[in-house]
Amino acid sequence: MTNSNKTIHSHILGFPRIGAARELKFALEANWRGELPDAQLEAVGRDLRARHWALQQNSGLDFVTVGDFAYYDQVANHVQLLGCEPARYGFTPEQTQLSRYFTMARGDSSARHDHADCGHDHANDGGLHASAALEMTKWFDTNYHYLVPEFTPETEFSLACERLFDEVAEAQALGHAVKAVLIGPLSFLWLGKGKAADGGADGFDRLALLDKLLPVYGQVLDRLKAQGVRWVQVDEPILGLDLPAPWRSAFENTYWQLNQVGVPLLLATYFSPLEENLSLACRLPVAGLHVDGVRAAHELTSIADWLPVHKVLSVGIVDGRNIWRTDLDAALAVLAPIADKRAGKLWLSASCSLLHAPFTLAAETALDGEIKSWLAFATEKLDELHLLKQALRVDAGAGLDDAAAAAATAAALATSRAAIAGRRASARVHQSAVRERVAALPADADQRRSAFPQRQAQQRARFKLPAFPTTTIGSFPQTPAIRAARAGFKRGELDAAAYEIKMREEIAYAVRRQEELELDVLVHGEAERNDMVEYFGEQLDGFVFTQLGWVQSYGSRCVKPPIIFGDVSRPKPMTVAWTVHAQSLTARPMKGMLTGPITILQWSFVRDDQPRALTALQIALAIRDEVADLEQAGIGIIQIDEPAVREGLPLRRSRWDAYLDWATRAFRVSASAAADGTQIHTHMCYAEFNDILPQIAAMDADVITIETSRSDMELLNGFGQFRYPNEIGPGVYDIHSPRVPGKEEMVRLLRKAGAVIPPANLWVNPDCGLKTRGWAETDTALRNMVAAARQLRAEH
Ligand code: GLN
Ligand code: ZN
Repeated sequence: MTNSNKTIHSHILGFPRIGAARELKFALEANWRGELPDAQLEAVGRDLRARHWALQQNSGLDFVTVGDFAYYDQVANHVQLLGCEPARYGFTPEQTQLSRYFTMARGDSSARHDHADCGHDHANDGGLHASAALEMTKWFDTNYHYLVPEFTPETEFSLACERLFDEVAEAQALGHAVKAVLIGPLSFLWLGKGKAADGGADGFDRLALLDKLLPVYGQVLDRLKAQGVRWVQVDEPILGLDLPAPWRSAFENTYWQLNQVGVPLLLATYFSPLEENLSLACRLPVAGLHVDGVRAAHELTSIADWLPVHKVLSVGIVDGRNIWRTDLDAALAVLAPIADKRAGKLWLSASCSLLHAPFTLAAETALDGEIKSWLAFATEKLDELHLLKQALRVDAGAGLDDAAAAAATAAALATSRAAIAGRRASARVHQSAVRERVAALPADADQRRSAFPQRQAQQRARFKLPAFPTTTIGSFPQTPAIRAARAGFKRGELDAAAYEIKMREEIAYAVRRQEELELDVLVHGEAERNDMVEYFGEQLDGFVFTQLGWVQSYGSRCVKPPIIFGDVSRPKPMTVAWTVHAQSLTARPMKGMLTGPITILQWSFVRDDQPRALTALQIALAIRDEVADLEQAGIGIIQIDEPAVREGLPLRRSRWDAYLDWATRAFRVSASAAADGTQIHTHMCYAEFNDILPQIAAMDADVITIETSRSDMELLNGFGQFRYPNEIGPGVYDIHSPRVPGKEEMVRLLRKAGAVIPPANLWVNPDCGLKTRGWAETDTALRNMVAAARQLRAEH
């Protein structure tokens, strides 16, 4: 064996920037409220960067990564770095860089739109107002949202921001060896949106801007080289997508040009296998290639063979998207042959930026000790990388500098091994009753008893609803009083009995208001729910919750996803008592309110020891039991929310069918315990379903409600052309804004809907839940909505 394994390096693609205690969030929000001056916000940022680099250095990484920090979003940083702030903002030289940045991120106050928390997937309507925020959309298939750059044919680029170089200097002043990170030019253009010069939507070819963009990237690289950075990591995650031919063929020339600068480039891909782009990625003229060793594990061998030997291969062997401890023995078995093949040119890393992982386990004092031993958050993943590097050196006979280090490595490996074995064997993970139930599930468990037309007839006879029935999506305003009661209950200041009384009062209040409004199908209002996934996760077996496992969603917003560690089952009913209480207060039908299996799966950290499809099915069975219990308790209408179905779509089209098969089946399994006369609703926030309408229809919900108002009902056209067979409630007003819609505008939207969907199949409802709104606006808006429905009834 050679000594070359001594040169195995470890690094990361990026680190969570929000801070161990979400320091950045609180500083940002104070700054936005005008309570923290910019200079102090910058000081918080500087302090976080310094701490995060120190963590990287202390874990023995060979470089710290600089350029992953952002006050809102890394893509927005590039908009400023590359001098392409949209002209529509009309920024003036007097405005500071930071104020321009926050205007792009959040809009000016008159145009501010609250993204609230109807799901994790809301674009705002960028074009409506000259100073509205940039649109936001999901970063590949993560729950992180980036700000979408806007390009017009006239867009020019220039090196316009010093922030990146300042941060490099900052790290160097702290004594760190620096690897800078940039989003690659092709991914940057791809992730943007083409707009006509007047700001309207326009699908002009963004690739046409590449020639103007590349010289600026060249200048950025020149500057970084002059600063003496060791490497520049250039992220091109779009290499894992189905790329049109012109985009693929743009790579060679692009990287040929950038490579001329002479600073070593590490081209980083992640989230997806390279597939047809594999040989392209391997032959690009760069000094190194990073690949996702988790999602593209099956490609590692061919990449290790294909990539020219003089190039560095960075293997993302530690899962950056999940929270499980790495099976180090398995990782070493993968890495050792690659280390041999690529003498001196192997780097170890996490699969993607650790932005998508919570900060540290150290803060989790309440987490069950056994389960905690199975986990690794961002900080622990740094340690795993170090351990792998050390172990490979020992393996290669290169030895470690001292015996104590060797012993520490051996001990840490043993601890890790024991934790992995413990998890594999744990009785808490495996519940034979759940396994047996899944195995014995009849083939038709995902089918309602009769086809939709028969069900529809029975339901019409049962509920006798008017045409254009009115309803809401589930939640009513979460008032300060409700939040205070829930917080008090969680802290133990309010006992269970007092809390229950309080919530029952809130439910009664919501029911009374809905009766006054004369809505047709009522809801209990979800006062008892903090979050539509957490509420169910807390009551299901197989889930745990962290105290501080926050992950950035966008800007200052973080989510704390539950962790699904074991087989899922439902020990007892979760919503029946609240729903029955609500129904007892009214003669109108009360709609039960559940979260569907795909949404629970999608918004949690999931097991990596069984397929997602199986976890989804287990959750589906738990929801199915709840449906049966609600029905048994006399609830005739049950909504199963599935806002996350679309965001679960794999990045590659070739995998869509497989996903949609199991995802829609899981939904149907959850719904199909219902008798024909029980009406199953589902709700999805997004309505951009045109490419998956057959599968949405195959979910076979009796009623689907979707978000359509902000597209002026245009999104409904696809449903019309497809002849969507079941009933449908296209949202008639935008719940993300405090603006109260008038009756006439809802009448207009409903007429538009009636032109594409048979009016007899139409429902009338808002776009989504109302929990972020106040009662006063809600009341007026719903009053107008009911009036609009009445007018439509009169017209038909
Ligand atoms: N029933 C939920 C609510 O009304 C639905 C939320 C969502 O679609 N994200 O709040
Ligand atoms: Zn919604």
